Amino acid sequence: MRALEEKILKDGKVFPGGVLKVGSFLNHQIDVPFMKEIGREFYRLFRDEKITKILTIETSGIPIAVMAAAEFGVPVVFAKKHHSKNLADDCYVAGIHSYTHGNDYEARVEKQFITADDTVLIIDDFLANGAALDGLLKIIDQSGAHLAGCGIAIEKAFQAGGKRLRGQGIRIESLAMIAEMKEDGSLAFVEQ
Ligand code: 5GP
Repeated sequence: MRALEEKILKDGKVFPGGVLKVGSFLNHQIDVPFMKEIGREFYRLFRDEKITKILTIETSGIPIAVMAAAEFGVPVVFAKKHHSKNLADDCYVAGIHSYTHGNDYEARVEKQFITADDTVLIIDDFLANGAALDGLLKIIDQSGAHLAGCGIAIEKAFQAGGKRLRGQGIRIESLAMIAEMKEDGSLAFVEQ
């Protein structure tokens, strides 16, 4: 998606350790009209799949997932990273290692919100090593739902997740794929 690549080049900031910050439109401040365009693009890519639920993980997957869900006319379910009193005990649970925070946590989704009758589209902001997607895939596995595929805004293609998961036969559509990111702040995209 050319507009996303241009936005990354204009507003993205490369940080040490291969982290790209896109706080001005996605990870902190949210550019709503632009998120809407991203939602439309996911709809264009997956509209033939009879999606019944969109699954994401808090926090930064939520705005994109909501915009996509508005196009599909289906609910968004977001996996929660913290156990709290307002979460029922009857949950799917998956352990995940966070790339950006360097810690492990458990993602939870109440069983009532995803069932074997669902066809699920996973949406997330970034794909790097694939740990977040692994966790969401485990949750879908536990539910018995059908996975239609994964829609990712920004894939860091120089990390292993995309290749590994596509190798497992999972459909992954990334709107911008970064081939290379240098400490001097420059980055290059994979030609799509
Ligand atoms: P993975 O689990 O695929 O290694 O990493 C994906 C998750 O880590 C995403 O949900 C995203 O929140 C976070 N993440 C990974 N790399 C980056 C990055 O370069 N920038 C930002 N902002 N988040 C990232």
